[in-house]
Amino acid sequence: MRVYIRTYGCKVNQVESEELAARLVAEGHELVRDEELAQLYVINGCTVTGEADTKVRKGVRHAASLSQVEQVVVTGCAAVMHADELAALGEKVVVAASSSKLNLATDLTATLPSALSFHTRAPVKVQDGCENFCSYCIVPYARGACRSMPMAGLVGHVEALAADGTQEIVLTGINIGRYCDPETGADLPTLIRALYEQGGVHRIRLSSIEPPDVTKALCNLLAEGILCEHLHIPLQSGSDAVLKAMGRRYTAAGYAAALVRVRAAAPQTAISTDVIVGYPTETDADFEATYDLCKALAFSKIHVFRFSPRTGTPAAALPPLDPHLVAARAARLRELSSELAVSYAQAQMGRMLEWVVERVDPVTDQATLTSREHLSMRISAADRITGELLTHPFDMMRSVSNISTEIPAPRSLEA
Ligand code: SF4
Repeated sequence: MRVYIRTYGCKVNQVESEELAARLVAEGHELVRDEELAQLYVINGCTVTGEADTKVRKGVRHAASLSQVEQVVVTGCAAVMHADELAALGEKVVVAASSSKLNLATDLTATLPSALSFHTRAPVKVQDGCENFCSYCIVPYARGACRSMPMAGLVGHVEALAADGTQEIVLTGINIGRYCDPETGADLPTLIRALYEQGGVHRIRLSSIEPPDVTKALCNLLAEGILCEHLHIPLQSGSDAVLKAMGRRYTAAGYAAALVRVRAAAPQTAISTDVIVGYPTETDADFEATYDLCKALAFSKIHVFRFSPRTGTPAAALPPLDPHLVAARAARLRELSSELAVSYAQAQMGRMLEWVVERVDPVTDQATLTSREHLSMRISAADRITGELLTHPFDMMRSVSNISTEIPAPRSLEA
């Protein structure tokens, strides 16, 4: 059967889709890149915000409308939380609960054939689930309790990826700071060191890490060059009152202290974050505290989310703020994010960075590169090959992201 897989949401979903793809290929199905050719259309859906739900529903309707598609299978967090609603979207639609998919993913983690890793940067899922129960978040209900993949299996898996030419792995999970090897009790820093020393992979990146887990041991890995100099550390709010209401397990000062540790270990580290604006108890003063903290912490990027009530969470019972007010706050913070992204990129201008060649386009003769700091740029392909490592000075005007267009380039580059 010809299968097309569409993935929404986080890196965990991406990994699970790749694992699903591996299983389908092993069973003799054909993966297609053109959705129009698909007979089976799999949607791995996310439910992290109301916007994510809308996208999944739209995706399901679209998939069901394609003439060759015989069946649309919806899985992922969205399938768990909205099974009935999604199943009602059409006769072709079947909803597969995440629990069966997660078992499949667990079974496959240690045995995923490296040939089915689609990128030079391969995601490696090390953990699933979360028990933090932040007041606004549906994920613990959708994903369940924390569980970690055995370290020995992960080392073997990474060894196979490295032997197959993968230069960089991205460790993923819902709350990877809670990693705990079920066999030895090893924590995340111990796992990372083992993957580097025994797995033999050149670059290790973390998808996201909670502030309390940015420990001295983790920062030592940055200082030693074992971890890539890019961390995504969700802030959510810069107001202690809102952090407390959200059930977050740190204060604004505690968060800032974590960034001091990171920058003491590796000063040029790019630090990106998530911020929720418009939490129901957020006052003007709370928002200003968030804005000021974001500015002071000089993030390389802020992912701004407007608060979206998720049915079944404590925060959903609170009266919402005026949507116009929330939209205005989000716009201000997004503008700040653009400014900070440019500042970070400007500070890296001309630095010799280590890049991996993600892909080479023979039509444009351009190679797309990604640095350890998660900067991205294009250069002339020359004889570059996908997966190759190289050092090259960073040029903001060649950046693949929109940082070179949102704000005028520095004068020195306007030739
Ligand atoms: S840490 Fe909080 S926001 Fe993150 S997945 Fe767990 S409950 Fe959700």
